[in-house]
Amino acid sequence: MINFSSNDYLGLSDHPTLKANAIEAIHQFGTGTGSARLISGSLLLTHQLEESLARWKKAESALVFNSGYQANVAILQALLQPTDWVFCDRLNHASLIDGCLLSGARWTRYQHLDLDDLTRRLKKAPVKASKWIVTDSVFSMDGDYPDLGKLVAIAKGFGAQIILDEAHATGLYGDQYSSGLAEAFGVSKDIAVQISTFSKALGGTGAFVTGSKTIINQLINTARGFIYTTAPAPASIAAAQAAVDLIQADALSCQTGKDSLKKRLWQNVDLFSERLHWHKNNKHPVAEKLYENLAWPLKSPVIPIVIGSEENAVAASKHLEREGFFVHAICPPTVPEGTARLRISLSAAHTTDQVTGLVDALTRIQSSIS
Ligand SMILES: *Cc1c(COP(=O)(O)O)cnc(C)c1O
Repeated sequence: MINFSSNDYLGLSDHPTLKANAIEAIHQFGTGTGSARLISGSLLLTHQLEESLARWKKAESALVFNSGYQANVAILQALLQPTDWVFCDRLNHASLIDGCLLSGARWTRYQHLDLDDLTRRLKKAPVKASKWIVTDSVFSMDGDYPDLGKLVAIAKGFGAQIILDEAHATGLYGDQYSSGLAEAFGVSKDIAVQISTFSKALGGTGAFVTGSKTIINQLINTARGFIYTTAPAPASIAAAQAAVDLIQADALSCQTGKDSLKKRLWQNVDLFSERLHWHKNNKHPVAEKLYENLAWPLKSPVIPIVIGSEENAVAASKHLEREGFFVHAICPPTVPEGTARLRISLSAAHTTDQVTGLVDALTRIQSSIS
């Protein structure tokens, strides 16, 4: 089957340079690191990677983690104090929710992307309390994102700090460096903490956080998910380094109009919308319905086709499977009740025939769409 459920947006997980770097690191340093970094130190590779990550994200410092889930839980638990107030988007990733809960901070959730609701809630918090706004940049199950310019302005007005999870944006957004949505909005300097993963567009495994030296030092000394875990494997670090170098070179190619992975990915996003539009203009009833359910223009390679009931979403997924496409049905509690969906993620590795083939198969879905 053709896989439309993976977050390997640039197809890097199968890239020869990443694979060669990882294999070379195994030959040189072995398969494991044997201990936590505070006990037996860090590979030079890891320090070098952290320096490149800080430069890429225009931050003072960076720290790597074994996974995005682990990073979020560790970072939030370490930075948020029980007397702090934390404001979360209602649809934040589960790892952000878990981290906020573990921190014991006063927790409030605003309506998805609703910055007026956020403002109302910020007004209710004591002026003196430390305030944090925690949000995904690109939302993993919806493919939408907040207006980061406005979010920064609101945060400044209330003296709140922003923690931004760039898992689905790092490597994809930002014309110059592809460093994420903060770069695209020109607000990198105004975001206290950015979290990114190696596991999506970077095609590997692990995660990293960027911020001031003070914040990174605080994490090194207090984040339990950093202190009490074995350092990431040499192969993961080496693959991540190759991905970061490759993505920055690729961004430059894209900017100068040359063929690039980033260009191919966004061409696939455009192709998906054009093909669906074409079916809709031909009055195809399913296409009309699908079109209605999607926010236009498509803002990301994550395309949620909200079906409604779990049963219908699973049936729609089975239908696509029979046509040769793997699109997993996402059901509650991953998404809110009554919004079960097909979550399509496009990649630079998909061919044009595969993308148009998927849209054509979608129009043949038999189950009812709410
Ligand atoms: C995938 C994801 C994570 C978790 O990252 P892993 O490296 O898979 O553990 C964290 N936050 C968001 C928004 C994600 O989509």
